[in-house]
Amino acid sequence: MLSRLNGRVRARNIEEVRVAPRPLDLLTPFISEERQHHIAAAAEAARRMLDGRAVININSTARGGGVAELVQALCGYARGAGVDSRWLVIEGDEEFFRITKRAHNNLHGEPGDGGPLREAERALYERVLAENAASLAPRIRPGDIVILHDPQTAGLAPAMLAGGARVIWRSHVGSERHDEVVRAGWDFLRPYIQMADVSIFSLAEYAPEWLEPAAVRVINPSIDPASAKSQDISGADARQILRQVGLLDGPPPARPPLFRREDGSPSPVTRRVELVSEGDLPRAADPVVAQIARWDALKDMAGVMRAFAGMESRPRDAHLFLVGPTVGGVADDPEAGRVLAACAAGWRALPDEQRRRVHLVSVPMDDREENAAVINAIQRHAAVIVQKSLAEGFGLTVTEAMWKGKAVIASGVGGIRHQIIDGESGILLPDAADLAACGRAMRELLLNPALAERLGAAARERARHNFLPDRHLLQYAELILDTMPEAA
Ligand code: UDP
Repeated sequence: MLSRLNGRVRARNIEEVRVAPRPLDLLTPFISEERQHHIAAAAEAARRMLDGRAVININSTARGGGVAELVQALCGYARGAGVDSRWLVIEGDEEFFRITKRAHNNLHGEPGDGGPLREAERALYERVLAENAASLAPRIRPGDIVILHDPQTAGLAPAMLAGGARVIWRSHVGSERHDEVVRAGWDFLRPYIQMADVSIFSLAEYAPEWLEPAAVRVINPSIDPASAKSQDISGADARQILRQVGLLDGPPPARPPLFRREDGSPSPVTRRVELVSEGDLPRAADPVVAQIARWDALKDMAGVMRAFAGMESRPRDAHLFLVGPTVGGVADDPEAGRVLAACAAGWRALPDEQRRRVHLVSVPMDDREENAAVINAIQRHAAVIVQKSLAEGFGLTVTEAMWKGKAVIASGVGGIRHQIIDGESGILLPDAADLAACGRAMRELLLNPALAERLGAAARERARHNFLPDRHLLQYAELILDTMPEAA
C-alpha cells in the first residue's frame, strides 16, 4: 500500500508542534471554584487511566483556522495536567489539499471546486496518507490514543489501528442537511471513519446516519481565555496595537506595544498588516465593523462587504475591516488567494465613497502569537463583529467575540445557531444571503451602543458557561474512559 519512488517509500515530513504545558490554574480567574475542583479531579483520573500512554493529535496545519486553535489550547492544558499529549502535523501537496478541501466543502453542503471524489482522488488521498503513516509509525506506540482531525487525516485510521493505537476521529465540519453533496463527502470518508473507535462531531445533527450511535460523541469546541488571542487587554492597548500594525489613524507608538506570550513573557508587536485599502484609516472614535475569517468562500467576506457598503443610511464615520490570514499562511487551505482576489475585485468595483470605508486586511501568520495579539486587538476594538458564513461547523470567531463582550451579527447556520440566542446574546440572520437584513442589523447596532452592550454582556456569560476549556477537557476525559474500558 505504500507508494514507492525508485523502489523507496517516499518519506513525508511530520512536523511536531512543540506545545508548552499550560497549568489548569490559568483558568482560575474565569471559572467558579466548583468548576476548578471538577476539572482538577478529572485531570487526576485521566492521568491514572492513561498510565503513561500518550494522546496524540494529528491534523494538517500548525496555524490558521479553528482546528489549530483548539489543538494548541487543549494539548497545552492536557500537558499542564500531566498527560503526555502531543501534536503532529501531516504533510500534503497541492493536489492532496485540493481533494481534501473538496471533501471539506462537500461536508458543508457545497460543491466547492465542483470536482469529483472518485477512485482516482481516493488513490491519491490514500497514497499521501500512507506516506505520512510511514513517517508517523515510529512515533505511535500500541495503546496510545490518536485523535485524527478532519477529512485531511481521516484516512490515517487504518494505519494507526494497525499500529495498536485507539483511534478517535474528530470532525470540525458538517451540515444539518444530508443531501447529495454532503453524502458525496461522507461516502469518500466512510471507509476510514467507520474503522475509528469513536467519532466526535461539533453538533449531533452532523453525524452521518450510518455511524453506530455508540460510536458518536458530540463535543462543542471552546476558546482559551488565557491565550494571546483572548487575553484581557485594555481598549487603549488595543488601539496602540492597531496603530502599530497600520489599522488605525494616528502616529505609530514610539515603542512597539507589548502583548503577553502564552509562556508569560512580554513581546512586542512589530509586523504590519497587508492592506487593500484607500482613503483614510478609521480614527480612534470611528465605529468599526469587523469580520475575521480565513479567506474561504463559505465565510462570504464579499457578502459582508456588499451588506456594509449597501447599508441604507450608513453612519458616515463607520468602517469595515475584513480580516484574514496572509495568503499562503494556512497550509491546508488552497483557496485563499482566489477568494481574496475576488474580494479585492469586488472592492475595486465599489463606488468611491463606499470603497474608502472598506479595508481588506491580511495579518501575517509567521508568528502565531503575534497574529493572535493583532486579532485580539481588532476583536476588542470593533463596535460590531460579523460572521456571515454560508456554512459553519462551529465558528470559533463567534465564540471569541462573545467572550470579548461583543455584539455579534451572524448567520443562523451550523454551530453558530448553538452559540447565539437571537436577540439575547447576539443577532442571528435567518437567511445568510439576505444582505439587506445584514445591513439593517449592522446599522441598528452602530446606532444603538446600549443594545450592543447588552447583547455583548449576555454573550460573555454564555461563552463563560459553555465554551471554556474546562468543560471541553472534562468531555475528553470522559471519552478516554469510555474508549479505554480496561483502564476503568
Ligand atoms: N484566525 C486567525 N487569524 C486570521 C483569521 C482567523 O487567527 O487572520 C483564527 C480565528 O481567530 C479563529 C480561527 O482562526 O480562532 C477560525 O476558526 P473558525 O472556527 O471560526 O473557522 P475555521 O477557520 O475553522 O473554518
